[in-house]
Amino acid sequence: MIDLRSDTVTEPCDRMREAMATAQVGDDVLGADPTVKQLEEFTAEILGKEAALYMPSGTMTNQVAIRLHTQPGDEIVMEENSHTYYYESGGPAALSGVMCQLIKGDRGLFTAEQLTAALRPKNLHFAPTKLLVLENTHNRGGGKIWPIDQLQSVTNTARNANLRTHLDGARLWNASAATGIPEKEYAKHFDTISVCFSKGLGAPVGSALAGSAEMIDRARRFRKMFGGGMRQAGIIAAGAIFALQNNRPKLKADHKNAKLLAEGLTGLKGIDIDPAAVETNIVFFNTTDPAAELVEKMNQKEILMLALGENSIRAVTNLMVTKEMTNQAIETIRSICQ
Ligand SMILES: *Cc1c(COP(=O)(O)O)cnc(C)c1O
Repeated sequence: MIDLRSDTVTEPCDRMREAMATAQVGDDVLGADPTVKQLEEFTAEILGKEAALYMPSGTMTNQVAIRLHTQPGDEIVMEENSHTYYYESGGPAALSGVMCQLIKGDRGLFTAEQLTAALRPKNLHFAPTKLLVLENTHNRGGGKIWPIDQLQSVTNTARNANLRTHLDGARLWNASAATGIPEKEYAKHFDTISVCFSKGLGAPVGSALAGSAEMIDRARRFRKMFGGGMRQAGIIAAGAIFALQNNRPKLKADHKNAKLLAEGLTGLKGIDIDPAAVETNIVFFNTTDPAAELVEKMNQKEILMLALGENSIRAVTNLMVTKEMTNQAIETIRSICQ
């Protein structure tokens, strides 16, 4: 199988399993798991923040951040295709009681002018706008990277309007691997950042929320409230530490394979793809025939991708897909599309 459905399909290698099996653990709800602490400190250091908090999923880190920065009845601003709005089960409404104002972006990006237009004047008729959420890289934007200047101008505008700022950085690692801009250079523009260990980094479980010590202290209570307090979580945290140390440098290979795949599919009958749009590990392309049909034909030849629209397919390169496998996938799709 060549599994290109997502970068979440990665499984721990033997060395990662070994690190997990031998991890020192304790009850993390009582603050006594040294491996979780080590992961949190390591993550905070990479992101240039005072503290970080380990959680079971990226959905939880984003939703805890929203709860942390808002009160029920507040409004938060984000892009219409952002994961936090699109893929998190209505969490902002259900868990924090906030309204979402959505900005129409271009592959997930928007401008400071668009944010300014979205801000509401102080007036008792309006829900107070309290939080800006950005996503880098942008998942539904096809792994698009926020140019650092544009990110800075949008977050400056938010700060000048007294908004808090949160970055959904599930794939911030990919942005840094692609641009060479360190994670902390992106993170410094935000109050809180969430990062995933279980995507391209290949750990089995978990995400972290980073920010000031005071914010992370408050976030710890909301994590408990949302059911995310874990006990001997050092077992899974050890996988995340291993992933940061050993797999973070490998993300560049995923990006190369994504480019290779996009170039290999260019010009095939029934496929419309722009390889120049591929910046990281996510490849989107359009199909003339129904996407589900082509995906089914690929499945029969042991290549897995996701049909994300009537005529749209997503492929995500990952740790378990080598250059050889990518070439093999291209050859197979060529034979299907003849
Ligand atoms: C995957 C992802 C998340 C979190 O997903 P979980 O499955 O809840 O860990 C958050 N944001 C983005 C952009 C993602 O791609």
